[in-house]
Amino acid sequence: MYCPVCFQNTMKIRSSGVIKLTFNGKSRNTSLFTYNLQKESQEQLDAKLREKIVDFLSFYSEFMNKPPIKNFECFSSDFQCTGGCKIDINSKLSVVNVVYPAAVMKQILLEEGKKFGIGIELNLS
Ligand SMILES: [Zn+2]
Repeated sequence: MYCPVCFQNTMKIRSSGVIKLTFNGKSRNTSLFTYNLQKESQEQLDAKLREKIVDFLSFYSEFMNKPPIKNFECFSSDFQCTGGCKIDINSKLSVVNVVYPAAVMKQILLEEGKKFGIGIELNLS
């Protein structure tokens, strides 16, 4: 992923920060978590993601009208340009295939969607 400021250097995720989630563009105020890539194992990071997906889906499952989840975003603004550009703190940079392989993310969503009876129709790349 190239830096959105200079378009020349690549972006690197910071070793710690905050990851946020949206589902069909919606989120709860609990749909975020901190990460620390130096202290946490991939299993711990996966467990945090799963916990927040469950948190949202259990809330969403109470809705009368529950269209399938077609748009899932998992992003952070805690990236830095290797050239040192200042990155807007409101940037939404995807952590798919950076912190979480797309396949792992999709698997967790499919498993939890099934438990809550919510359709997951995603095309994560
Ligand atoms: Zn840059």
